[in-house]
Amino acid sequence: MKVVKFGGSSLSSGQQLEKVFQIVMSDPERKVVVVSAPGKRSSDDIKVTDLLIECAEQCLQGADWSGPLKAVIARYKDIAEELSLSSEVIDEISEDLFNRLNGDQRNSDRFIDLLKASGEDNNAKLVAAYFRKMGVQASYINPKEAGLLVSDEPGNAQALPEAYENLFELRHQPGILIFPGFFGYSKEGDVYTFSRSGSDITGSILANALKADLYENFTDVDAVYSVNPFIVNSPKEIKELTYREMRELSYAGFSVLHDEALVPAFRAGIPVQVKNTNNPGAPGTKIVAERDNTNGPVIGIASDQGFCSIYVSKYLMNREIGFGRRLLGILEDFGLSYEHTPSGIDDVSVILRENQFDEQTEQKIISRIKNELNADEVKFEHSLALIMVVGEGMRHNVGTMAKASKALAKAEVNIEMINQGSSEVSMMFGVKVVDEKRAVKALYDEFFAAVPV
Ligand code: ASP
Repeated sequence: MKVVKFGGSSLSSGQQLEKVFQIVMSDPERKVVVVSAPGKRSSDDIKVTDLLIECAEQCLQGADWSGPLKAVIARYKDIAEELSLSSEVIDEISEDLFNRLNGDQRNSDRFIDLLKASGEDNNAKLVAAYFRKMGVQASYINPKEAGLLVSDEPGNAQALPEAYENLFELRHQPGILIFPGFFGYSKEGDVYTFSRSGSDITGSILANALKADLYENFTDVDAVYSVNPFIVNSPKEIKELTYREMRELSYAGFSVLHDEALVPAFRAGIPVQVKNTNNPGAPGTKIVAERDNTNGPVIGIASDQGFCSIYVSKYLMNREIGFGRRLLGILEDFGLSYEHTPSGIDDVSVILRENQFDEQTEQKIISRIKNELNADEVKFEHSLALIMVVGEGMRHNVGTMAKASKALAKAEVNIEMINQGSSEVSMMFGVKVVDEKRAVKALYDEFFAAVPV
């Protein structure tokens, strides 16, 4: 049995839904279909989820929300008309949206989640109606009734352990099951969404809970590429990679799959296959627990912007017990999560995502570190990009770091910091944002361009 997830661009129009139907019907193993909300039809289009967020925010501010609401309904209407579905589906969707807009607004984040989740919920109803019209036994599954229980964290929910047991029962339900992605219900019965692009997470939870043989994730690219195709022209496709490699790559900007989505599939040992709705014949990329090492030491190079570092130095830091704990404790007091902590004998840098705080907080952090830890120097460095060079093969390979730093030196990229994860599956380079693309190209040329396919 397979769980199949389709992303927003795969469900953006009636024509796309026809492709989805063909894909699902071409393999009787495809039983559970997880759907996103309708996504962009072209690069300048707006995702239904974004329209819903706008609508919820206008409503909370007491402003006129009719514009975005109409736009949402129009998206479903266009699809329904293209597929000659009865207008009942659209009436049901409109009614649902009005009910949500009249919902409890005391907690604004929860209210936004309620609206956001309707994108996938209503799309699942529409897709199920279309499958039935095509003569197939298919039903919309209500995540509340199915028991997809999640934590009560708006926009960042996590599945609760009980959810897996509850969802297992879906195995006994006949026909094709159309399940909305992106959200679940708290124990109190309120809607909470996962983080953005979280339908991938729903698919993985279902694959785990239902003990599927495969989790197929259909999107709009033929494969996971070894580097961002917007930086390097026609990069190599990755045929197979491990969960850990994919996790490292999606952490640093590979957006093909949500970085939290692998965990449930990984725990149950279920392989994940990334495929293209617009070219289902292409083999795609398979994510597995172990792979044969065929690609040399490096499988992919990812990069992401929006980081900063706090550099702290203090003479004899290495002998001061509890320095690191107290430093991170200060960050914890500000509710900040950190990414990496490369360190020397008398200095340590803490890398953080810079969208977590403002200038004022920065000043407070500096003075607390100076006063409480008696640091000799404390400084923030902004506009950093992190580049991750990833590959299980690096563990058994000598000289990968040397090759990488030589390539960066040749491209005249100044390395601000280096960190090698303890797992030895990745190496991280911190560079200035202005050097990011040049650095990624240089690394790609070094590890891929010269290697035969
Ligand atoms: N529709 C949601 C988003 O745009 C979730 C998803 O597509 O996976 O983030």
